[in-house]
This record gives sequence, C-alpha cells and structure tokens, in this order.
Amino acid sequence: MAEIDYSKRSFNYYPTNAIVYATCVDGRWSKPVVTNDFNFSVHCFGGVFHYAPSCFEGLKAYRGADGRVRLFRPDENAKRMASSAQYLDMPYPNMEMFLDLCIMCVQENWDCIPSFESGASLYLRPVLFGINPQLGIKSANDVMFCVMASGVGTYSGAKSLVPGSAVISRNYDRAATYGSGGYKLGANYAQSLHAYNLAHKMGYRELLFLDSATHSHIEEFGSSNFFGIKHGCYVTPNSPSVLPSITNKSLRKLAEEMGLKVERRTIFIDELETFEEVNSCGTAVVITPISRIDDKVTLESGTITREYKYADVCGPISEKLYHRMVNIQKGVEEDPYGWCMFVNDPK
Ligand SMILES: *Cc1c(COP(=O)(O)O)cnc(C)c1O
Repeated sequence: MAEIDYSKRSFNYYPTNAIVYATCVDGRWSKPVVTNDFNFSVHCFGGVFHYAPSCFEGLKAYRGADGRVRLFRPDENAKRMASSAQYLDMPYPNMEMFLDLCIMCVQENWDCIPSFESGASLYLRPVLFGINPQLGIKSANDVMFCVMASGVGTYSGAKSLVPGSAVISRNYDRAATYGSGGYKLGANYAQSLHAYNLAHKMGYRELLFLDSATHSHIEEFGSSNFFGIKHGCYVTPNSPSVLPSITNKSLRKLAEEMGLKVERRTIFIDELETFEEVNSCGTAVVITPISRIDDKVTLESGTITREYKYADVCGPISEKLYHRMVNIQKGVEEDPYGWCMFVNDPK
C-alpha cells in the first residue's frame, strides 16, 4: 500500500476497513458486529430521522513514539455519552461496552492508524441514535451504538497551531440557557450549521457564541471551547450550556501543573480586550490560536465592528500547553495522570 500523505488530509472522512456496532432492542444489547458494509439499514420511521434522538463522541487513537497505540481519556467520552443519552432519555452503552467497541474499532482499522512521524491520528466517532419506528413524540426505546473511524490530518491542513479569525455570533445562538448545550447532541450542530456557513462566507474560521439569555458573555465556539490567558491565569467560561470539553478539562490540569491559576467563570465580552492569548480547544486540533475576534454590533446608527486583536502566531503559554498535551497523547512524555489507554496490536 502506498504511503498516505497525512499532511494533505484535513479533518474529514477517509475510508477505513470496518465499523463496529451493537443495537439495543427491548432493553437488551446485541453482541457487537464488525462489518465492512458502511450502510446501515434503519427503519424509515426510526426516531433519528424525525426528532433527532442522536448523540455522538469524538476521540483519537495515537500511535506513540514507542509504536504503541493509545486512546486519550476514552472513559471521559463514555461518561459524556451516557450523560447525553440520559438527557435524551434513551438507552446507552455502559463504560465497559463503550470502551470495548472503541478498542475493537481501532483493532479492525489497525493499518489505518497513521504513523507517529506523520503527526496524524485515527479519529474515532462513536454515535448513538434511536432506531425504533415511531411517529408519536417519544424518546427512543431502541438504539444503535456504532463506532466508526477516519484517518484524519488536522482541521487546518499540514500545520498545527495555525491562527484563525473568529466572529461573534450576534444573530444566532447555539444553545438555550436551560437547553441542550451541555450535551453532545447532533441537534446542537443542526442548530449552528447555518450560522457557521454565514461566518465562513464572511471569511472567518470560527464562530464564537454568546450566552443566549443576555448576549453579554462568552460561551464557546461552534465545536470547541474557549480559553484565554492573561496575567498567568487560564480563564475559561463556566456555563451549563457550554459543552464540557475533555481537551479543556485536560488543559486546565496541565495549566495548573505549569503554575498557572485556573479560573472558570463568566467572561464578559469586554474582557476579550484584556487577554494576552485566546484559543479554541477540542479533540480535533487540541488548540487553535485565535488571532482576532470581530464583534459586529448593531446600533441605531448602523452596524459597527469592534475588533479584538491578538498575535498572528500562537502565544507562548498556549504553545507550551499544546506541546505538553500532545506529548502525553503520543507517549513522548510520561503520562502522570494515567490519561492514555493502550490498545493491543490485534495480530
Ligand atoms: C465536542 C465539542 C467540544 C470539544 O470537546 P472535546 O471533548 O475537547 O473534544 C467543544 N464544543 C462542542 C460544542 C463540542 O461538540
């Protein structure tokens, strides 16, 4: 097989060997099924097509410097999927089952795991959705849990830590105050796709959402959390409508380790002016430095743009955090917190 140039790959779907799934019908889980048929057969009245009982996860398998393959904090993904499913009132895989199917998926796609040198990884996408035929408005009784994979590069192509610009979303909210923002639901994405398309058309990489009740403080980017650095402090919003990012959680730990103070609190828009470094963070790219945030505010006199500008390169503290994180994920540095779970070579 020809070597794949992962530097030319972005965060996208690239074919792999197999998927793994199990179904829960009448409260009983089937045995996991491994298949190279990537087409599901689901009843057309299955809830997922109508009322969006659907949640998902994202995690990565990394080939380490030592050649061993690691999953990064998959137990956290299992817990979060359980919490999303509980919000949707539908069955979900327990921790053991979640981990088993992730491991099986990695093993079935072993030759699709990028080399250590490539800097790329095998992205796992566990999904859980309602399959029982229904027309009445009810939570799903029966579900399918499937883990699929894609050998991804990074969002921004070959290089990591390439800064991007963001615009504050003034006309669209991602999540209601007492809504589903804290759960990883497909529906949350449906909610933000149009707003994202508009932002991209305007040339912005990222869209920064505000709290929906007051539009006065920062929540998060469309698919990643917000954190800022100032005066030796790591600051990130604390809100029930922000998705609890595992990357953010891990970075907070590493920030403490580096001697930074960590604050989870309300960040009013004006405070953007005072940050030395601003980033988005998530599994896909760990950290994306934000070089500028535009806020298009409509006043009686018309729309004005307030600009918050940061450096055109990744800030020094964020860069340190990034390398510490990636080095733990890839086994370049010791893993003092036991975050990595090894997956055995199936051969
Ligand atoms: C998945 C996701 C994140 C990032 O979470 P990680 O666990 O770090 O990958 C952030 N925001 C939203 C809205 C998400 O869906």
